[in-house]
Amino acid sequence: MLNCIRSLFRINNNKSKNESAKGDLLKMKNIVLFGPPGAGKGTQADVLKEKYQLVHISTGDVFRYNIKNETELGKLAKSYMDKGHLVPDEVTINMLNAEVDKNPKANGFIFDGFPRTAAQAEALANLMVEKNSQINAMVALEVDDEVLVTRLLERGKSSGRPDDANEEVIRERIAEYYRKTDILKDYYQAENKYFGVDGVGSIEDITDRLSTVIDKL
Ligand code: ADP
Repeated sequence: MLNCIRSLFRINNNKSKNESAKGDLLKMKNIVLFGPPGAGKGTQADVLKEKYQLVHISTGDVFRYNIKNETELGKLAKSYMDKGHLVPDEVTINMLNAEVDKNPKANGFIFDGFPRTAAQAEALANLMVEKNSQINAMVALEVDDEVLVTRLLERGKSSGRPDDANEEVIRERIAEYYRKTDILKDYYQAENKYFGVDGVGSIEDITDRLSTVIDKL
Protein backbone atom coordinates (compact mmCIF):
# COMPACT_ATOMS: atom_id res chain seq x y z
CA MET A 1 0.00 0.00 0.00
CA LEU A 2 2.77 2.42 1.01
CA ASN A 3 4.77 1.86 -2.16
CA CYS A 4 1.64 2.15 -4.21
CA ILE A 5 0.88 5.52 -2.60
CA ARG A 6 4.47 6.70 -3.05
CA SER A 7 4.39 5.78 -6.71
CA LEU A 8 1.35 8.03 -7.16
CA PHE A 9 3.60 11.02 -6.57
CA ARG A 10 6.85 12.22 -7.95
CA ILE A 11 8.50 12.83 -4.62
CA ASN A 12 11.95 14.33 -4.68
CA ASN A 13 13.82 12.72 -1.83
CA ASN A 14 17.25 13.72 -3.09
CA LYS A 15 17.12 17.27 -1.89
CA SER A 16 19.44 17.84 1.02
CA LYS A 17 18.13 19.76 4.02
CA ASN A 18 20.53 22.63 3.33
CA GLU A 19 19.43 22.97 -0.23
CA SER A 20 15.79 23.44 0.70
CA ALA A 21 16.49 25.60 3.75
CA LYS A 22 17.09 28.85 1.91
CA GLY A 23 17.14 31.99 4.06
CA ASP A 24 14.73 33.94 1.87
CA LEU A 25 11.97 31.44 2.56
CA LEU A 26 11.81 32.92 6.04
CA LYS A 27 9.99 35.85 4.47
CA MET A 28 7.20 33.63 3.24
CA LYS A 29 3.65 34.26 4.39
CA ASN A 30 1.81 30.99 4.80
CA ILE A 31 -1.85 31.00 5.66
CA VAL A 32 -4.26 28.20 6.40
CA LEU A 33 -7.70 29.28 5.21
CA PHE A 34 -10.06 27.29 7.36
CA GLY A 35 -13.74 26.56 7.76
CA PRO A 36 -16.38 23.90 7.17
CA PRO A 37 -17.50 22.84 3.68
CA GLY A 38 -19.30 25.72 2.00
CA ALA A 39 -17.75 28.40 4.22
CA GLY A 40 -16.37 30.20 1.16
CA LYS A 41 -12.69 29.28 1.34
CA GLY A 42 -12.25 28.82 -2.41
CA THR A 43 -14.00 32.11 -3.25
CA GLN A 44 -11.87 34.07 -0.80
CA ALA A 45 -8.64 32.27 -1.73
CA ASP A 46 -9.12 33.37 -5.35
CA VAL A 47 -9.18 37.01 -4.25
CA LEU A 48 -6.46 36.76 -1.60
CA LYS A 49 -3.93 34.96 -3.80
CA GLU A 50 -3.95 37.96 -6.19
CA LYS A 51 -3.97 40.54 -3.44
CA TYR A 52 -1.02 39.03 -1.54
CA GLN A 53 0.71 37.25 -4.44
CA LEU A 54 0.51 33.86 -2.79
CA VAL A 55 0.22 30.41 -4.30
CA HIS A 56 -3.20 28.89 -3.62
CA ILE A 57 -3.31 25.16 -3.03
CA SER A 58 -6.75 23.62 -2.70
CA THR A 59 -6.57 19.90 -1.95
CA GLY A 60 -10.19 19.52 -3.13
CA ASP A 61 -9.27 21.10 -6.49
CA VAL A 62 -6.21 18.86 -6.89
CA PHE A 63 -8.34 15.79 -6.16
CA ARG A 64 -10.99 16.93 -8.66
CA TYR A 65 -8.31 17.53 -11.31
CA ASN A 66 -7.10 13.98 -10.77
CA ILE A 67 -10.64 12.60 -10.95
CA LYS A 68 -11.24 14.44 -14.22
CA ASN A 69 -8.03 13.05 -15.67
CA GLU A 70 -8.84 9.57 -14.37
CA THR A 71 -5.50 9.12 -12.61
CA GLU A 72 -4.96 6.39 -10.00
CA LEU A 73 -4.98 9.09 -7.33
CA GLY A 74 -8.28 10.39 -8.71
CA LYS A 75 -9.90 6.97 -8.64
CA LEU A 76 -8.81 6.43 -5.06
CA ALA A 77 -9.92 9.90 -3.91
CA LYS A 78 -13.29 9.62 -5.62
CA SER A 79 -14.23 6.54 -3.63
CA TYR A 80 -14.01 8.63 -0.44
CA MET A 81 -15.23 11.97 -1.73
CA ASP A 82 -18.47 10.58 -3.16
CA LYS A 83 -19.42 9.41 0.33
CA GLY A 84 -18.52 12.73 1.95
CA HIS A 85 -15.54 11.18 3.76
CA LEU A 86 -11.99 12.43 3.97
CA VAL A 87 -9.34 10.90 1.75
CA PRO A 88 -6.77 9.02 3.91
CA ASP A 89 -4.07 11.18 5.48
CA GLU A 90 -1.07 9.52 3.88
CA VAL A 91 -2.43 10.03 0.38
CA THR A 92 -3.41 13.63 1.04
CA ILE A 93 -0.17 14.55 2.81
CA ASN A 94 1.99 13.14 0.00
CA MET A 95 -0.08 15.03 -2.54
CA LEU A 96 0.23 18.29 -0.60
CA ASN A 97 4.00 17.89 -0.28
CA ALA A 98 4.27 17.36 -4.02
CA GLU A 99 2.16 20.49 -4.72
CA VAL A 100 4.33 22.64 -2.43
CA ASP A 101 7.47 21.28 -4.10
CA LYS A 102 6.13 22.40 -7.49
CA ASN A 103 6.39 26.04 -6.31
CA PRO A 104 9.95 26.58 -5.01
CA LYS A 105 9.84 30.32 -5.67
CA ALA A 106 6.54 31.07 -3.92
CA ASN A 107 6.24 34.13 -1.64
CA GLY A 108 4.02 31.95 0.47
CA PHE A 109 0.95 29.75 0.28
CA ILE A 110 -2.73 29.82 0.99
CA PHE A 111 -3.67 26.32 2.09
CA ASP A 112 -7.35 25.70 1.38
CA GLY A 113 -8.82 22.41 2.60
CA PHE A 114 -5.57 21.37 4.26
CA PRO A 115 -4.93 20.47 7.02
CA ARG A 116 -8.15 18.67 7.88
CA THR A 117 -6.87 16.29 10.54
CA ALA A 118 -4.37 16.44 13.39
CA ALA A 119 -1.95 14.24 11.41
CA GLN A 120 -2.15 16.65 8.47
CA ALA A 121 -1.47 19.63 10.74
CA GLU A 122 1.66 17.88 12.07
CA ALA A 123 2.79 17.04 8.55
CA LEU A 124 2.30 20.65 7.47
CA ALA A 125 4.29 21.95 10.44
CA ASN A 126 7.13 19.57 9.54
CA LEU A 127 7.02 20.58 5.90
CA MET A 128 7.28 24.25 6.85
CA VAL A 129 10.29 23.53 9.09
CA GLU A 130 11.90 21.75 6.14
CA LYS A 131 11.34 24.92 4.09
CA ASN A 132 12.82 27.00 6.90
CA SER A 133 9.43 28.63 7.23
CA GLN A 134 6.23 28.38 9.25
CA ILE A 135 2.47 28.71 9.19
CA ASN A 136 1.76 32.32 10.13
CA ALA A 137 -1.94 31.95 10.81
CA MET A 138 -5.07 29.90 10.53
CA VAL A 139 -7.81 32.26 9.38
CA ALA A 140 -11.21 30.67 9.79
CA LEU A 141 -14.51 31.53 8.12
CA GLU A 142 -17.30 30.98 10.63
CA VAL A 143 -20.72 30.09 9.20
CA ASP A 144 -23.73 28.30 10.75
CA ASP A 145 -24.36 24.73 9.65
CA GLU A 146 -27.81 25.33 8.17
CA VAL A 147 -26.44 28.22 6.09
CA LEU A 148 -23.73 25.85 4.84
CA VAL A 149 -26.28 23.23 3.75
CA THR A 150 -28.31 25.86 1.88
CA ARG A 151 -25.20 27.26 0.17
CA LEU A 152 -23.90 23.85 -0.89
CA LEU A 153 -27.27 22.72 -2.27
CA GLU A 154 -27.39 25.98 -4.24
CA ARG A 155 -23.83 25.48 -5.51
CA GLY A 156 -24.76 21.91 -6.46
CA LYS A 157 -27.25 23.19 -9.04
CA SER A 158 -24.40 24.48 -11.19
CA SER A 159 -21.06 23.16 -9.88
CA GLY A 160 -21.40 19.67 -11.32
CA ARG A 161 -19.86 18.39 -8.08
CA PRO A 162 -21.53 15.12 -7.09
CA ASP A 163 -20.76 15.81 -3.42
CA ASP A 164 -22.85 19.01 -3.61
CA ALA A 165 -25.84 17.39 -5.28
CA ASN A 166 -27.06 15.30 -2.40
CA GLU A 167 -28.13 16.65 1.01
CA GLU A 168 -27.13 13.45 2.78
CA VAL A 169 -23.56 13.69 1.45
CA ILE A 170 -23.44 17.38 2.35
CA ARG A 171 -24.48 16.62 5.93
CA GLU A 172 -21.92 13.81 6.10
CA ARG A 173 -19.17 16.25 5.01
CA ILE A 174 -20.20 18.63 7.77
CA ALA A 175 -20.28 15.75 10.28
CA GLU A 176 -16.80 14.67 9.11
CA TYR A 177 -15.66 18.24 9.68
CA TYR A 178 -16.82 18.12 13.31
CA ARG A 179 -15.37 14.63 13.84
CA LYS A 180 -11.90 15.26 12.49
CA THR A 181 -11.25 18.86 11.49
CA ASP A 182 -12.85 21.29 13.94
CA ILE A 183 -10.27 20.33 16.64
CA LEU A 184 -7.56 22.02 14.59
CA LYS A 185 -8.81 25.33 15.95
CA ASP A 186 -7.34 24.29 19.32
CA TYR A 187 -4.12 23.19 17.66
CA TYR A 188 -3.50 26.63 16.16
CA GLN A 189 -5.04 28.47 19.10
CA ALA A 190 -2.38 26.89 21.33
CA GLU A 191 0.22 28.62 19.14
CA ASN A 192 -1.75 31.91 19.16
CA LYS A 193 -2.29 31.52 15.43
CA TYR A 194 -6.07 31.12 15.25
CA PHE A 195 -8.16 34.01 13.90
CA GLY A 196 -11.90 33.55 13.41
CA VAL A 197 -13.79 35.77 10.99
CA ASP A 198 -17.54 36.06 10.37
CA GLY A 199 -18.10 34.26 7.05
CA VAL A 200 -21.58 35.67 6.39
CA GLY A 201 -21.90 38.85 4.31
CA SER A 202 -20.81 40.09 0.90
CA ILE A 203 -17.68 38.63 -0.71
CA GLU A 204 -15.99 42.05 -0.44
CA ASP A 205 -16.86 42.50 3.23
CA ILE A 206 -15.49 39.07 4.06
CA THR A 207 -12.29 39.77 2.09
CA ASP A 208 -11.90 42.96 4.15
CA ARG A 209 -12.30 41.01 7.39
CA LEU A 210 -9.70 38.46 6.30
CA SER A 211 -7.33 41.18 5.08
CA THR A 212 -7.46 42.92 8.46
CA VAL A 213 -6.00 39.75 9.96
CA ILE A 214 -3.50 39.03 7.17
CA ASP A 215 -2.16 42.60 7.06
CA LYS A 216 -1.07 42.29 10.68
CA LEU A 217 0.93 39.09 10.18
P1 ADP B 1 -15.49 21.38 0.70
O1 ADP B 1 -14.62 22.16 1.64
O2 ADP B 1 -16.56 22.21 0.09
O3 ADP B 1 -15.96 20.08 1.26
P2 ADP B 1 -13.18 20.60 -0.89
O4 ADP B 1 -13.10 20.88 -2.33
O5 ADP B 1 -12.21 21.29 0.01
O6 ADP B 1 -14.65 20.97 -0.54
O7 ADP B 1 -13.05 19.04 -0.61
C1 ADP B 1 -13.87 18.10 -1.27
C2 ADP B 1 -13.55 16.69 -0.76
O8 ADP B 1 -12.16 16.38 -1.05
C3 ADP B 1 -13.67 16.48 0.74
O9 ADP B 1 -15.00 16.19 1.13
C4 ADP B 1 -12.71 15.29 0.94
O10 ADP B 1 -13.30 14.07 0.55
C5 ADP B 1 -11.59 15.58 -0.02
N1 ADP B 1 -10.51 16.36 0.63
C6 ADP B 1 -10.16 17.65 0.36
N2 ADP B 1 -9.16 18.03 1.17
C7 ADP B 1 -8.87 16.98 1.96
C8 ADP B 1 -7.94 16.74 3.02
N3 ADP B 1 -7.09 17.70 3.42
N4 ADP B 1 -7.90 15.53 3.62
C9 ADP B 1 -8.73 14.56 3.22
N5 ADP B 1 -9.64 14.71 2.24
C10 ADP B 1 -9.73 15.90 1.62
